[in-house]
Amino acid sequence: MFSLRWKLGGALLLVVLVSVGIMAFLTNQNTTSQFQQYIQTGSAAYNQRVVNNLEQYYAQVQSWSGVQEILLASLRTTGDRLVLADNSGKIVGDTANQAVGKTAVSLGISEGNLIQAGGQTVGTLYLDLSGMMGSGRGYMGGRGMMSGSSLPITAAADIVQPAEGAFLSRINNYLWIAAIIAVAIALLLGFFITRQITRPIRSLATGAAHISSGDLGYRVKIHANDEMGKLAESFNDMAQKLDDSEQSRRRLVSDVAHELRTPLTIIQGTVDGIADGVFQPDRKHLDSIREQTLLLTHLVNDLRDLSLAESGQLKLERLSTDMLDLIQRKIAQFEVNARQKNVRLKLENQSAIAPIDIDAKRIEQVMGNLLSNAIRHTPEAGQITIAMRTQGSTPGGRELVVSVVDTGEGIPAENLPHVFERFYRVENSRSRSEGGVGLGLAIVKQMVQAHGGRVWVESLSGQGSTFYFSLPFPESSGSK
Ligand code: ADP
Repeated sequence: MFSLRWKLGGALLLVVLVSVGIMAFLTNQNTTSQFQQYIQTGSAAYNQRVVNNLEQYYAQVQSWSGVQEILLASLRTTGDRLVLADNSGKIVGDTANQAVGKTAVSLGISEGNLIQAGGQTVGTLYLDLSGMMGSGRGYMGGRGMMSGSSLPITAAADIVQPAEGAFLSRINNYLWIAAIIAVAIALLLGFFITRQITRPIRSLATGAAHISSGDLGYRVKIHANDEMGKLAESFNDMAQKLDDSEQSRRRLVSDVAHELRTPLTIIQGTVDGIADGVFQPDRKHLDSIREQTLLLTHLVNDLRDLSLAESGQLKLERLSTDMLDLIQRKIAQFEVNARQKNVRLKLENQSAIAPIDIDAKRIEQVMGNLLSNAIRHTPEAGQITIAMRTQGSTPGGRELVVSVVDTGEGIPAENLPHVFERFYRVENSRSRSEGGVGLGLAIVKQMVQAHGGRVWVESLSGQGSTFYFSLPFPESSGSK
């Protein structure tokens, strides 16, 4: 299989060969025809000039005596031959000095240029441009001419003489040499151009090979402002995302393993203790085992929900739901916990809100996570206020915003951007014993986003936190 470089080089060479070939052919054709035209015009003018000279000479001398000098002086090249016959057809001048005294008829020549003087024909000029008189080529010039005043018209091809032909072939040779030089330069340029084009592609191919072999830290180095540069940028972005997701997968596996270890160690220790007779199989130890298995079940359920939501596979069973009712029910469930800590749970603005299409079980989970966090992080005699409002004016942009405000310890500013990340705990959850595993808010975020809503938090360390989530009303749904 030919490499891209060979294919590009081949294509370039083909284009150069075809275009140089066409150019050389056309130039050759054009030069030949232009040159022949030039010669034809030149020859006709020459004929006319010689005829004029002879006419003037005759007008002055009134005879052809001494005309040989004029004919010799009129020769253009040594290859030409001028022959002059008087009005009786007798040759009176011949630059080749061979035919004087003979007649044109005896020489078998015809079709000359008529020489006029005083309104009469006084002679005929024959131009042997080929220098081959009598060889059958014939005489050029004056063909079909009635008087010296009109120019002879001859076929262009007949006019080209050996010297002129040599000139033409020299031009052709130069043309071909130019074509060969052009092809050589094109080959050289093609070599560099194809190298320039294929180099970034080769870098990308190398990059792809590194990534596919697991070297996710590999980045291609292409600094160009063209499509290749953009492709390399996208490639590096893709590699970065792969790297990030691989690292996050590793972190997740290690976090999960870490979170599973503590309850499993407690269960195993308690069971071992009972088996070895160190512990009694009494209520206290069985409760401890049950607590840890519940924790494990909870963790596994949370992880399953999170992974379903993150992969977009969470199936929502949306039903028209009265949010006020849902929140009141949830508050009632947490009343006991709150009272144990002497924390007051308060629902603000209890006016009815239009029903909204949500998966009630999932939103209850959201509310549950927010309330349990708020209770956990609010000290004795604190207060947790839940409020609901609708916002947005256009029908498509209306949303329900729920806020959970506590008077707890708050969250330091540097931790705020991360609290919705999975397994993220502020300062490893202050006291780990009371904290969860750091999945609660990640689940809140995923569940709300699955409903098309948003989550955000406002908090000042030591001054409590406010968690918000919004749920969009469907376009047709009304709201107050
Ligand atoms: P966890 O299950 O460990 O509570 P979350 O995802 O629910 O994990 O919370 C992440 C972190 O955010 C926790 O470590 C906790 O310290 C902090 N956090 C959550 N809610 C509050 C709150 N109402 N007040 C103060 N800190 C909070």
